[in-house]
Order: sequence, then C-alpha cells, then structure tokens
Amino acid sequence: MVVVDRTKKGGQYVGNWRTYMPEVDYERCTACLLCAMYCPEAAITANEEGKPEVDLRFCKGCGVCANECPVKAIRMVKEE
Ligand code: SF4
Ligand code: SF4
Repeated sequence: MVVVDRTKKGGQYVGNWRTYMPEVDYERCTACLLCAMYCPEAAITANEEGKPEVDLRFCKGCGVCANECPVKAIRMVKEE
C-alpha cells in the first residue's frame, strides 16, 4: 500500500520549487525510522503505527530519506 496525502499537508513553506517528493510504501516499511533520523529538515515523524509520515510543508525533496532506507520503501516521485 502506498499512501501519499497531498491534501492534508503540503506546500505552504517550500513554495512550488520542489521537484521530487518522497512516497512511502507502508507494506515494505519496517518502521525503523532511519529516514526520520537522516532527514535534514526534520520533516518526518512517526504516525500512530510508528511508521514515517512526511510533512510536505517542510520536505525539500532532497531524497536523503529514500537513499538511507535499508529496505527501499521510499521512492522519489515527480511533484505534480
Ligand atoms: S527508513 Fe525505510 S523502513 Fe525505515 S521507517 Fe523509513 S521508510 Fe520505513
Ligand atoms: S526528501 Fe529530504 S527533506 Fe524530504 S523527507 Fe526525505 S530527507 Fe526529508
């Protein structure tokens, strides 16, 4: 299951210059939260299941989280 909530959060602070955004595959994710630890913008928090939730108001689309995820549960997708 891939979940991206584009309506709840997003865009207020980074404006419209972000090119890519992270998309988490929650079935693949093991809830290790390494992505949250590595995110330079502290844009990732744990949801009620302990899995990462990206606050797109702060995410800069750098891709560090996707690179650091040990099970490749995050992919960077082109911003719409
Ligand atoms: S690093 Fe990958 S496996 Fe770990 S919490 Fe983040 S998305 Fe899930
Ligand atoms: S793309 Fe960069 S800024 Fe956005 S959540 Fe991942 S590590 Fe954080």
